Amino acid sequence: MLEICELVKTYPNGTQALRGLSFSVEPGEVFGILGPNGAGKTTLLKLMVGVLTPTSGWISLDGVNPQNSPISFRKLLGVVHQFGSFDLTLSIWDNLNIYGAFHGLPKHETSRRINHLLERLDLVAKKHEPIENLSGGQRRKVQIARALLHRPKFLFLDEPTTGVDVYSRKQIWDIVREEASPAPYIIFTSHNVDEAEKQCDRVLIINQGTSIALDTPQRLIDSIIGHRIEIRFEGQPADGLEQTLEANPLVYSAEIHNSTLRLRVEAPSKCLPQILECCSQHGIAATSVVTRSASLEDVLLKSTGRELN
Ligand code: ADP
Repeated sequence: MLEICELVKTYPNGTQALRGLSFSVEPGEVFGILGPNGAGKTTLLKLMVGVLTPTSGWISLDGVNPQNSPISFRKLLGVVHQFGSFDLTLSIWDNLNIYGAFHGLPKHETSRRINHLLERLDLVAKKHEPIENLSGGQRRKVQIARALLHRPKFLFLDEPTTGVDVYSRKQIWDIVREEASPAPYIIFTSHNVDEAEKQCDRVLIINQGTSIALDTPQRLIDSIIGHRIEIRFEGQPADGLEQTLEANPLVYSAEIHNSTLRLRVEAPSKCLPQILECCSQHGIAATSVVTRSASLEDVLLKSTGRELN
């Protein structure tokens, strides 16, 4: 199990990047960390891989702590940082070979894994190219290959698909899920909320160094936003329409903008007839009704304090 307990990080200049985060991740989980710029995502990831030391609190991967057992700790990990740390003048092959040696893989096993991973990532033809000759997307794939070389149990990915095309994004996610150890822990940050919604079993939303929400994408959507209904109407609504609607336990919020009533609700099929009835009692007639499920992006905007339209 991956456990994080009361994690605090204050940088030497006094910035409190993390203010006491606690959570755990189960084996086999794809776990996403989301939040606006400056929320503390990269700091959290750097602490989890042992690059930074916490001001207080602790981290444990299967009982191994980065401060007490740094070498055993690093051998458990595969890491993709936002900016890859390669020797740019060496080839893909040489960079990956050095990494295999660090992890104590036998030479023939390192060669087998490098060939296999480069094949899957469409990079075989480039294996003797120096890294400096590769595109941004190709370098990102080499980072992925390096992180997966020793089939790690814990994979940490900071913005793993930034700068890669849609086809490569799918390729990267397939390989990440298949080439780590059985039931790996996959922890990643992303600015691409659609991708997080699609890939994650659970999502942690952080803002200003604290945890805002933690659950499956669907449960976060249901509990924080629900469904959205937009009703265009004719007529002038009588006073108190929004308040009457919000008194319905299935209606989270109701707002009028010009001739449109916007609602966030639970179970739209149950409450829509009641909403329309209430509208007519307040003197307005619906001319169109649109319902749609909310997205994880709506959850992120709302839970970090930004208003939805
Ligand atoms: P995110 O990855 O969510 O954008 P970061 O973890 O990079 O957030 O940053 C969290 C906060 O810590 C920000 O206010 C940032 O300016 C600050 N910060 C990050 N790195 C340092 C550092 N090395 N020294 C001082 N402050 C830092």
